[in-house]
Amino acid sequence: MRGLEAAHGRILVFGYIAIDIEICLTLRHIVAVKDTATLEPINHQKFDPEMIRADFPVLHQSVRGKPLVYLDSAASAQKPKSVIERLDRYYREEHSNIHRGVHFLSEQATEHYEAVRQKVANLMGVADPDEIIFVKGATEGINLVAHGFTHSVLQPGDEILITEMEHHANIVPWQIAAEQTGARLVVIPVDADGIIDQSAFRKLLSEKTKLLAFTHVSNALGTINPVREMIDAAHALNVPVLLDGAQSYPHMGVDHRDLDWDFTVFSGHKLFGPTGIGVLHGKRAWLERFPPYQSGGDMIEKVRFEGTVYKGIPGKFEAGTPHIAGVIGLGEAVDYLNSMDRLAARKHEDGLLEAARKGLAAIDGVRLVGNAPDRAGAVSFLVGDIHAHDIGTFLDADGIAIRAGHHCVQPLLAKYGLAATARASFSFYNNMDDVERLLAGVSRLKQFFL
Ligand code: PMP
Repeated sequence: MRGLEAAHGRILVFGYIAIDIEICLTLRHIVAVKDTATLEPINHQKFDPEMIRADFPVLHQSVRGKPLVYLDSAASAQKPKSVIERLDRYYREEHSNIHRGVHFLSEQATEHYEAVRQKVANLMGVADPDEIIFVKGATEGINLVAHGFTHSVLQPGDEILITEMEHHANIVPWQIAAEQTGARLVVIPVDADGIIDQSAFRKLLSEKTKLLAFTHVSNALGTINPVREMIDAAHALNVPVLLDGAQSYPHMGVDHRDLDWDFTVFSGHKLFGPTGIGVLHGKRAWLERFPPYQSGGDMIEKVRFEGTVYKGIPGKFEAGTPHIAGVIGLGEAVDYLNSMDRLAARKHEDGLLEAARKGLAAIDGVRLVGNAPDRAGAVSFLVGDIHAHDIGTFLDADGIAIRAGHHCVQPLLAKYGLAATARASFSFYNNMDDVERLLAGVSRLKQFFL
């Protein structure tokens, strides 16, 4: 276990701006490995929000008789035409099972599937594409790591360190791992603004800690955590880190050469790709140490009744027929992201988020939940004592889609004495009209209820 954290060299970059520039610089390489059969190349290098918006068919419709305002991208992002068309083409012209076929379609599908592994590795700044494991989503990725820790690391008395702002996907698998091994779940507190208590973190990190697992960006509050510092602190004690990237990849470049996590996960559906597909990246030595998570076809070298020899990574963790279309669609989503100036996209999103926060805070009776200085993507709020579900339903009648509920962070909300909040979340395809419609909707809601 020791020394794993030194496995990759580092390029020192300062903050996300530099990381994003890094991602842009790798674009030429990514384009070089792009599937030659891909449809018309898209080029949004000059970020034009309205051109981007035109790429997302679902946004151009009316719901409940009003033009749709989609402010629920943190739950799931919409899909650009290129991804939709790629899936359509795959099923119309290319579908076949992969890896074992000797015919043209199977070989082609295998080639396209494996090319996405390289594309995803490039997106994440990962040198070895074999360390990229295709899973169903962030949830399955974390479960795979928890299974590995349960069966090859954790002992009674060991500690798994998480934070109070984790999504249930990064809590429950660790509770189960702890139950099964006699390890203990230790939770780093978060303050009233939604910021992780760094001094408590340093105190809780110890020789007993066998893993630090935490989110890069809070799905409920939008807080961006100081990941670099936290990973460095854990590594200084030889503690491996799982970074939950479900809410960061959609908004920023997240690069392994900078952050050096041991594991990270993200979900394709939040990254403008298909549902049912996601990525786990883990350092080779860890993945080799873990037993298979699922077993059966395609993950073996040789099967005899006396025993089975497994494939090496990544095959060992991709048992059965995988989500081939999902992987190919995810590859197209990665191409789409790489086609745009992501720094400009982030700036645009931040402008919308800040306008929404400012506008909401200015409405009498509105309370923002979460006030960290570094944030991305989402704003949680309450209006007087109106139930969050009533806020969501009222806005929906106006064609505005937000999320209302516990956002799968029940322990965090319970700490704040809340059962639910309303959450508006933004992507680069949103615009200022969306913000204005949200603010007008909340003002009307207030007049209606209060
Ligand atoms: N972690 C975070 C921070 C999330 O926001 C989510 C999804 N809301 C998940 C994990 C789980 O993602 P999925 O449901 O796509 O597996």
